[in-house]
Amino acid sequence: MRNFNYAKPKSLGQVTSFLAASPQGAHLMGGGTDLVGEIKEGLVVPEVVIDLAAVPGLADIKKGPDGLAVGATATIAQIAGHPDVKADYPVLHQAAAVIASPQLRNVGTVGGNLCQRPRCWYYRDAAVRCSKKGGSTCYAVKGRNKHHAVFAGGICWAVFPSDLAPALVALEARFVLASAAGERVVAAADFYAPPIVNVRKETVLNRGEILREVRIPPAQKGDRSAYRKFIERGSWDFAVVSAAVRMSGGSAIRDIRIVCGGVAPVPWRLRTAEDALKGAGASEPAIRAAAAKAAAEARPLAENGYKADVLVTVVTDAVLAAFKAPARP
Ligand SMILES: Cc1cc2nc3c(=O)[nH]c(=O)nc-3n(C[C@H](O)[C@H](O)[C@H](O)COP(=O)(O)OP(=O)(O)OC[C@H]3O[C@@H](n4cnc5c(N)ncnc54)[C@H](O)[C@@H]3O)c2cc1C
Repeated sequence: MRNFNYAKPKSLGQVTSFLAASPQGAHLMGGGTDLVGEIKEGLVVPEVVIDLAAVPGLADIKKGPDGLAVGATATIAQIAGHPDVKADYPVLHQAAAVIASPQLRNVGTVGGNLCQRPRCWYYRDAAVRCSKKGGSTCYAVKGRNKHHAVFAGGICWAVFPSDLAPALVALEARFVLASAAGERVVAAADFYAPPIVNVRKETVLNRGEILREVRIPPAQKGDRSAYRKFIERGSWDFAVVSAAVRMSGGSAIRDIRIVCGGVAPVPWRLRTAEDALKGAGASEPAIRAAAAKAAAEARPLAENGYKADVLVTVVTDAVLAAFKAPARP
C-alpha cells in the first residue's frame, strides 16, 4: 500500500475544495467499509482520503413537506431504525435492515452504500486487469460467473451490490451531487449508468463531486411497498437477487415499480412485469406470470441461468408482500 494523506474536513466547502485540489487522487470515505478494502487490495491508490465523518449536518435525516432528506453520512442502521422510514417507506426500511451485519450497518453510510464498488471476483482481484480496470476483457464471460449479471451485460457483467439502490429507485428518490462548481440533482434511476456508458464506473458521479443528500418524495396515500432479497447463505450476504416493489391502487394495481438488485450492473427495473401487472388484480398466478415474462428477457452466462428462476420467485414474493402490506393512510 502506498502512503496517502488523510483529511478530515469540517465543512462541505472544505470537502469540495479537497476534491477540486486533487480530482484524480482524492477519495471520499464514509464508514470506510468498502474503501479501505479497496485500498488494501490495491484497487484504489489514493493521494488523499477525505473522511466525511466530521462534516456538520451531513448525517441528518429530516422530514419536511417535500419528503425525507437523508444526508450522505447517515448510517444504514439509522435508516433501518428511523420511525419515518418505517412508517412511510417500508421498502427502504426492509432493504436497510437486511444489509450485511449489525456492525457494518452501524458504520456503513448511505452515501457509501450507494457509491460502493462491485464485488465481482475478477474486479476485486488486483492481479486481474479486467475491462472495469482498463483492460479489454470481462473474464466472467468465459470464467466463473454464477454471481454475475443476467441483464445488460456486455463489456462488463459485474452486478451492482447495493440493497439501498433498488429501494431508492423504486421510491423515485433524487440524489443531490455537490462540487466546488455547485450542485446538481439527478434521479436515482439516472445516477446509475450501465457499463456501455463508462465501464470504469457505475454511476454518473464525476470526479470532484460528492453525493451529498438523498431526497425521497413524500409517501402518497395508498402507497404500499416491500423489499425481498434472496441470499446464498443463512446469515448476512450480498443479494443473489433482490426486488424492491412500490405500488398504488386497491384490489387492482394502479401503478407499480419493480426494481431488482443482483441481476444487472445497475438497479434493474422490470418494466415488462410492471406493464403486465398494471390494472391487474394481485393474484399469485398473475404476478408469477408477469415475473416470468420479465425473466424470459434475461441473457444468462453459463453458470447463472438459475438467477432467472430465482428472479421469478423473489419478484412474486415482493409484489405479494407489497400488496398485502397496509396501504399508507
Ligand atoms: C462483509 C460485507 C457484507 C456486505 N453486505 C452487503 C449487503 O448485503 N448489502 C449491501 O447493500 N451492501 C453490503 N455490503 C457493502 C456495505 O454495505 C458497504 O461497504 C457500505 O455500505 C459502504 O458504506 P461506507 O460508508 O463504509 O462506504 P465507504 O467504504 O466509505 O465508501 C464506499 C465507496 O463510496 C465512495 N463514497 C463514500 N461516500 C460517498 C459520498 N458521500 N459521495 C460519493 N462517494 C462516496 C467511496 O469513495 C468509496 O468508493 C457489505 C460489505 C461487507 C464488507
